[in-house]
Amino acid sequence: MPSVHHTKMLILGSGPAGLSAAIYAARAGMMPIVVQGLQPGGQLTITTDVENYPGFAEVVQGPWLMEQMTAQAVHVGTSMIWDTIVDVDLSQRPFRITGDGGDVYMAETLVIATGAQAKWLGVPGEQELGGKGVSACATCDGFFYRGKKVVVIGGGNTAVEEALYLTNHSDNVTLIHRRDHLRAEKILQDRLHANSKIRILWNKKVDRFVAGEGVSGLVGVDLIDTVTGEASHEPTDGGFVAIGHSPSTELFKGKLPLDADGYLAVTPGTSLTSIPGVFAAGDVTDKIYRQAVTAAGMGCMAALDAERFLAEAEYKALVEA
Ligand code: FAD
Ligand code: NAP
Repeated sequence: MPSVHHTKMLILGSGPAGLSAAIYAARAGMMPIVVQGLQPGGQLTITTDVENYPGFAEVVQGPWLMEQMTAQAVHVGTSMIWDTIVDVDLSQRPFRITGDGGDVYMAETLVIATGAQAKWLGVPGEQELGGKGVSACATCDGFFYRGKKVVVIGGGNTAVEEALYLTNHSDNVTLIHRRDHLRAEKILQDRLHANSKIRILWNKKVDRFVAGEGVSGLVGVDLIDTVTGEASHEPTDGGFVAIGHSPSTELFKGKLPLDADGYLAVTPGTSLTSIPGVFAAGDVTDKIYRQAVTAAGMGCMAALDAERFLAEAEYKALVEA
């Protein structure tokens, strides 16, 4: 039997942004509800080593870190609900949010922290070798390829930035692009071309990520020339797929402004969307940094912004009464 839940703050998403918002909101007495979605704990639950989240001198595991964050949110008074939101009505407050089992959430404020997903090539070996040589995040995993050979696939800003970043760890970085010119901004292209640690393979697409025989993990990529159709093989220890990200904003199309790439638009330097009482945090609104720590920081901002919004709304109601 579907239920109706009433809350001062509903948080969509249980990644670092949603859980940090929950920790701040719960400690402010707002008794938030977190709707966890199909990936409780968010993107970090599909990785292994995390060594750039502050507070841990030793490497921690992504799933463990998210278990801890969830437990912390619950300890301070958050209700966690396993549901996925399928509809939002933001036309009036309280906002009316519907889950896929028919539960309805009536929310005084809404924090959207539905994250984003890396786009993948969808070629053989990619999924199987995920975390064993294949990655979509150089900032997260580049450190593990110190002194090794790596390839980056893509031709946009992300790919070029990933390639440049990887030269901090490797002297042998190859950018593989399917065309003969890059989509990335000129300034980034200039930096790329000036960097002697990076070579570019033009007009090549990855046909397969190749696992080692008797060796664990990735050993190379099979390539196809997009002009001649010629097949080739590029040995590598790491393959970084950098062909873009898709923010999880399908639910909000036509209801909240999205930028040209589909990310939720917020007032710069805040978590405020164009609808008073609706806030956004984390990868769903951030196409530049995309880190657990920045998502967590934005979650904190959203909770503080929501708390201030409610306090002002309550004060206004009192004055007008
Ligand atoms: P996410 O973590 O993407 O969480 C989104 C949440 O929204 C999920 O819980 C999902 O279930 C929920 N959701 C989505 N749609 C709905 C819906 N309709 N209804 C309800 N809930 C919904 N960052 C680092 O700082 N260090 C690292 O080492 C690192 N390693 C990474 C390794 C991998 C393989 C990947 C993919 C990412 C890595 N990142 C790392 C990036 C980091 O994971 C993200 O920046 C961070 O998780 C973003 O947090 P978020 O809370 O914004 O969103
Ligand atoms: P993007 O601009 O969409 O570029 C994606 C790249 O991947 C393109 O070069 C594309 O090739 C390639 N690609 C896509 N699908 C592919 C496939 N199946 N196989 C092989 N290659 C494929 O994505 P992005 O680089 O992630 O950037 C997204 C947005 O964020 C952009 O607006 C960008 O400016 C912004 N961004 C900004 C910064 C910054 O300001 N510093 C940093 C990162 C991102 P084609 O070129 O052939 O289409």
